[in-house]
Amino acid sequence: MTVTTRFAPSPTGYLHVGGARTALFSWLYARKHNGTFILRIEDTDLERSTQESVQAIFDGMEWLSLNYDTEPTFQTHNFPRYKEIIGQLLETGHAYYCDCSKEELEILREQQMAAKEKPRYNGKCRDANKPQSDKTVVRFKTPMDGAITIADLVKGDITVANKELDDLVIARTDGSPTYNLTVVVDDMDMNITHVIRGDDHINNTPRQINILNALNAPLPEYAHLPMILGSDGARLSKRHGAVSVMQFRDEGYLPQALLNYLVRLGWSHGDQEIFSIDEMIEFFDLKNVNGAASTFNMEKLLWLNHHYLMHGELAEIVPHLVWHLAQLGIDAANEKVDLTDLIKAQRERSKTLVEMANASIYFYREFENYEEKSAKKAFSAGSDNVLTHLKNAFAQLQNWEKEALHDVVKNTAETLELGLGKVAQPLRVAICGSGVSPSIDITLSLLGREKTVARLERAISHIQTLA
Ligand code: GLU
Repeated sequence: MTVTTRFAPSPTGYLHVGGARTALFSWLYARKHNGTFILRIEDTDLERSTQESVQAIFDGMEWLSLNYDTEPTFQTHNFPRYKEIIGQLLETGHAYYCDCSKEELEILREQQMAAKEKPRYNGKCRDANKPQSDKTVVRFKTPMDGAITIADLVKGDITVANKELDDLVIARTDGSPTYNLTVVVDDMDMNITHVIRGDDHINNTPRQINILNALNAPLPEYAHLPMILGSDGARLSKRHGAVSVMQFRDEGYLPQALLNYLVRLGWSHGDQEIFSIDEMIEFFDLKNVNGAASTFNMEKLLWLNHHYLMHGELAEIVPHLVWHLAQLGIDAANEKVDLTDLIKAQRERSKTLVEMANASIYFYREFENYEEKSAKKAFSAGSDNVLTHLKNAFAQLQNWEKEALHDVVKNTAETLELGLGKVAQPLRVAICGSGVSPSIDITLSLLGREKTVARLERAISHIQTLA
């Protein structure tokens, strides 16, 4: 049978890292077994689902390159089918109408709480043969005895006695299906073989298995992934920093780095830390997923990001840098600056693409002011002469190439009988606006002749006004 997995987010917020990890593990499992990966949008909660959240899921999946094999499905498009199955369950005696009122159920709940019992439906309408009305819900007839054992691929066997479960509502008074029903119908119809999801759903699983059994449907295998915690041991949330996938993009992470980080959240392959996508697919196995919660470690993610900036394929990094430059209003694709050279020049000192883009602005745009401290140190009486020398040499230089540019700086120092620093530092501040840049020859080669000469002219006048 073809392995088929699904990622089934509810579009009620951004795509967070927990969801992305679930998506990644489901995707990897399908890819590893040459199976099918489905994206199913669980949007039946009409009040909480939004179009922006749907878009955030699509954007996140695309940014992470977690591709799905069929068009995404929407549960709101599938209501007739859910209705059909609810009808079938009623017909076969696996479900019944219940007209217990909210007030009645609330009293029952209070009584049970007072008696220190677990609140649950008492089965009053179970055998009462109530007719349908606009006040009736449909409840599933959970078996009275026996037990369900989930052979969880991550957590091991989990057994729940049926008497612990009550008769859950599968259709509301308006006929709309509830969560457990829609999941079961879709998992069955989509021939899902492996349900990989967060362990916050473990309580639903025995209920879903009971419904699948009532429908004589084959059972998928289940793998419940442990929670992700923040550094303080509490469930990961916004107050720990970025948690939405797109926020990691905005903060300058590469998708490869985030994927590599996420794959190691609960899964291991020996002590390997760095995984290409192909390696993830090759080595991934649910058996090696740890059942215990894992802690999100921003520093490690940052370390991975730097690793991928340093060693990743330049061609893969370029579009991401272009995106970040665009956020700064720079249309890098239409500029002369060579982006692969720029990345090579900046990656040592940049841990994120935001840092890299910010440190690269002066290659594209005139800076406003000279950074005070560096200018004070580098621009002194006489440095206008140094810069004039350089400007003339650069204006005449045949080949705008690193070696030749380096020679200009070196020869100027020799001619003027100055140390290299006394030439390079005013030059750096003149063309970058500050004393920090990649090596001077690389900076010059990236900047190009026109901007170099113009900025030298600006610095010369600036120094002359100081005198
Ligand atoms: N829609 C559910 C959620 O977002 C997931 C359901 C499932 O994976 O079975 O939590």
